[in-house]
Amino acid sequence: MRGIRFLGDRRSEIIDYPDDEPGPGYVLLKMRSSGMCGSDLHRYRVPFSDEELAKNPIRPGHEPCGEVAMIGPDVTGLKIGDRIMQHHYDGCRNCDFCNTGWQQLCRWPGRAVHCSGRHGGHGDYMLAHASTCLPLPDELTYEVGAYLACGASTAFHGLKKLQLSGLDTIAIFGAGPVGLAGVMFAEAMGARVIAVDISGERLEMAKAAGAWEVVDNSDGSAVEQIIDLTYGEGADATLEAIGIHATRLAAVQSTRVFGRCCFVGEGGDFHVLPSPDIIHRHLTLVGSWTFSTHGLIEAARFTARRQVPLETLITDRISLEDAPAAYEKFEAGAPGKFVINWN
Ligand SMILES: [Zn+2]
Ligand SMILES: [Zn+2]
Repeated sequence: MRGIRFLGDRRSEIIDYPDDEPGPGYVLLKMRSSGMCGSDLHRYRVPFSDEELAKNPIRPGHEPCGEVAMIGPDVTGLKIGDRIMQHHYDGCRNCDFCNTGWQQLCRWPGRAVHCSGRHGGHGDYMLAHASTCLPLPDELTYEVGAYLACGASTAFHGLKKLQLSGLDTIAIFGAGPVGLAGVMFAEAMGARVIAVDISGERLEMAKAAGAWEVVDNSDGSAVEQIIDLTYGEGADATLEAIGIHATRLAAVQSTRVFGRCCFVGEGGDFHVLPSPDIIHRHLTLVGSWTFSTHGLIEAARFTARRQVPLETLITDRISLEDAPAAYEKFEAGAPGKFVINWN
């Protein structure tokens, strides 16, 4: 079977991997769509040591969506051909976190993410534990299932933590794949959205996705612009989907008194003056890291039943052979969602 291998320093190639067979509790998924997510770029960009390059490579891709192709022993409730979104974590399956579908919080040393400690979705097939295989609603395509398997559902659950409603104006920082899905979900939840980015192309996509207003933050004036748009008060809620200090601080400072702010953008750092920025403004500041297995089902059902058109945010549909070139384009900051599709 074929799959991508990251080589470090923004290089990747397609190689042959050994075929896999599912052991007890596992199934083999035939991949139908595998999304490229912003957090894949951390591993794509870093230089690899000679030692790292000599190791057996692990296939990247943590937005896997496909169909059951082979079933290992002791698997119940799945059959060949089932359409699956894969929850891309593997844990001990015994602790409270694993038992409630939060394998990413498991403390077992052997816990892993599909894309680093286990093979991910950027190959013709992948092994997945049956407990991580969740039904893709009939109404949704495989590529929308892939988008939901990390990026889109991360936005959905950040918004859910903010308890968003039609009373709210929310400012969403970042109009990449996570932020754009956030624009659509927030609108579907009834809120009015201000989208913030420094790219005109991304802001155009945010407008098309339903944003009420867009804010170009190229000059660093997002806080002032959001306060102007909200009658001098600030946004009722803010979602930060970039992961750098400046936009985190701007998200906090553009949230109104008694408002709510949620961070989903990973990495980087954050320095804040607690008294003026948080305490004296009665701010509720929360973090949100992906979602549980049930959370993935919940986001997919919402997408299907409210007909949230996530597919319109997919700009690049790539074959596996063309994925190394697509990674270069994605890494360079091209707007929109990239997915690798198999026919
Ligand atoms: Zn566990
Ligand atoms: Zn991701």
